Amino acid sequence: MTQRALICGLLAALCLCSAVKARSQSEADRRVAVTFDDLPYQADGAALCDPASLMSLTTDFVAMLKPLATRATAFVNEGKTCEPTRASTLPQALNVWLDAGLGLGNHTFSHINIHQTTAEAWLADLDAGAPITRAALKARGERLRWVRHPYLFTGETQDKHDAIAAGLAARGYDVAPVTIDNNDWMFADVYRKAQRLDDPDLMRRIGEADVAHMTTVLDFFEPYSAELTGGREPAQVLLLHANSLNQDWYPQIHALYLARGYRFVSLEEAMADPLYAHADTYVRANGISWLHRWTHTDGRAIRWEPEPPAWIVEANKGGVEDLERMAVRMSAKW
Ligand SMILES: [Zn+2]
Repeated sequence: MTQRALICGLLAALCLCSAVKARSQSEADRRVAVTFDDLPYQADGAALCDPASLMSLTTDFVAMLKPLATRATAFVNEGKTCEPTRASTLPQALNVWLDAGLGLGNHTFSHINIHQTTAEAWLADLDAGAPITRAALKARGERLRWVRHPYLFTGETQDKHDAIAAGLAARGYDVAPVTIDNNDWMFADVYRKAQRLDDPDLMRRIGEADVAHMTTVLDFFEPYSAELTGGREPAQVLLLHANSLNQDWYPQIHALYLARGYRFVSLEEAMADPLYAHADTYVRANGISWLHRWTHTDGRAIRWEPEPPAWIVEANKGGVEDLERMAVRMSAKW
């Protein structure tokens, strides 16, 4: 056997091993519903105000998703577009998502922070964020059913928490919980800074760190979630955002889930899992996974998931120049 044939044989054996491993994981019937928040897109105001730019960001993102058959649901902040663009372009952008078979929900008009306002103002912002999304869904015979709390904040006092929950129920909304969150928004912020520096090597480091951190949080959340169900992993709901990081790196995240034996299901199918009927009595000023809320409700201690790498946390806090200095410092280690 030549050395080349030997190497090929070893590689084939390795592939077989990982295929067997993937099969044993899929026996657990892992399912995930993917959600993308902050539509139409996490980008600067100028990009969202320019109709051509907004449409190209949207069509590129959806074109990336479409062949992957994610069955994703996306949550809209109608107020993130500026006034003329909102009326003329936002319906077109939302139709790109719907044409691809993706779902839409309400994420409030302005991405309002309940900790800084009243329940009444929060619900008014929710209502202001509905009309264009509702009309786009209605034109296809669908209704605006889903809502996602901005920052995953559900109200930091019992009164606010209950007033919001009652207001959502009265309007016929279903809350879309999140179980898995790798803080992709933080990586995405650093990624946009690296794009401004026009540094493809740094962008690649950030994308790789994002995928690696997803592996880390899955290693944590999968067994943690099974503690709520007597050992069975529930259907998960993954929180991501529509942004340039996921435009470039979501396919790798998708492949990671496939390799771990996940099937991609709709939000509706994930929420048919009995765990989603679990009560939630967590009332704090904190936007956290529903796995933590349910663990707390069951009277057990919350164990927090691992944080993103320190350099991502630091780069998120700093400006573009800080990231540039950090990249020079770190390039010696890379
Ligand atoms: Zn959001």
